[in-house]
Amino acid sequence: MSNSFAKDIDGKAIAACVLEEVAADVRELALHGVTPALAVVLVGSDEASQVYVRNKILRAEQAGIRSLEYRLPNTTGQAELLEVIAELNADPLVNGILVQLPLPASINEGVVIHAIDPIKDVDGFHRHNVGGLVQGQEVLTPCTPSGCMRLLEETCGDISGKHAVVIGRSNIVGKPMATLLLQAHCSVSIVHSRSVDAAALCRLADIVVAAVGRPGLIDASWLKPGAVVIDVGINRIDTPEGSRLVGDVDYASARAVASAITPVPGGVGPMTIAYLLKNTVIATRLQRKSALMEKI
Ligand code: NAP
Repeated sequence: MSNSFAKDIDGKAIAACVLEEVAADVRELALHGVTPALAVVLVGSDEASQVYVRNKILRAEQAGIRSLEYRLPNTTGQAELLEVIAELNADPLVNGILVQLPLPASINEGVVIHAIDPIKDVDGFHRHNVGGLVQGQEVLTPCTPSGCMRLLEETCGDISGKHAVVIGRSNIVGKPMATLLLQAHCSVSIVHSRSVDAAALCRLADIVVAAVGRPGLIDASWLKPGAVVIDVGINRIDTPEGSRLVGDVDYASARAVASAITPVPGGVGPMTIAYLLKNTVIATRLQRKSALMEKI
């Protein structure tokens, strides 16, 4: 059994490397007269969403990506939002479209997501991209799971043959994460709210990815000694010292058993934005490729 503390997986440092790669790609595209552009659409005044959008735009500009911001009032109807998306789909100078979720309750998220042209769907949520991911095609892949894969690659190298347990089965994190791990030749188990003895299943894992939304659910008793732990959870909790962000993993307890672990904040969070910008470059290249094919 390991008796030293787990190494912290430094998401900020790894995200900075990804952003440098993006900036280099943007410089390369500039040689062909192309500047990738990302349109970010925010409906309403949700505070957390405003912070996310501000960060995404700031990072995009730092990487040399042109950003277009569409701030629509809370009263925006679905038809109006669909019109904005149709305009962005048709604009050849827009390469990526991101609609910040959650949307107001009056708008159907599924309808909006599937209105985005799949080749501009930098969140990778459109069914075309979801299906393509499952089939191992070159498509736009959801940012958070892609970022987690990079963290694993940097931490473990080849993960082929490892047993990975993903806790959570959402469309945006759990399911695509499990698919990417499978593509990396892991044996994958998915644990969810109906799983019988989730902790026992998790104790079999070499790699644990937690995406639940329950602060501190996973503690040392869920982990095999030496497991690598990726904590996707972002939960705001109140403490006597004020509110703070914590993950789904009880960090203090888990780091006594794991071999490596992502802190919250500073683990997965920065990777999500970095991979959004990577996806914007990938989308730009896919669009250029498809335009060239049309000419042939
Ligand atoms: P979600 O859609 O609410 O899904 C949560 C999943 O956890 C569900 O599949 C649910 O199972 C499962 N679950 C709930 N209680 C459980 C339990 N006791 N044991 C095992 N599984 C349980 O959440 P999400 O969108 O995937 O997000 C998960 C967390 O990641 C949240 O904290 C979110 O804020 C965070 N997040 C972070 C980033 C980032 O950039 N770091 C990005 C996205 C999300 P059922 O399907 O059976 O209900």
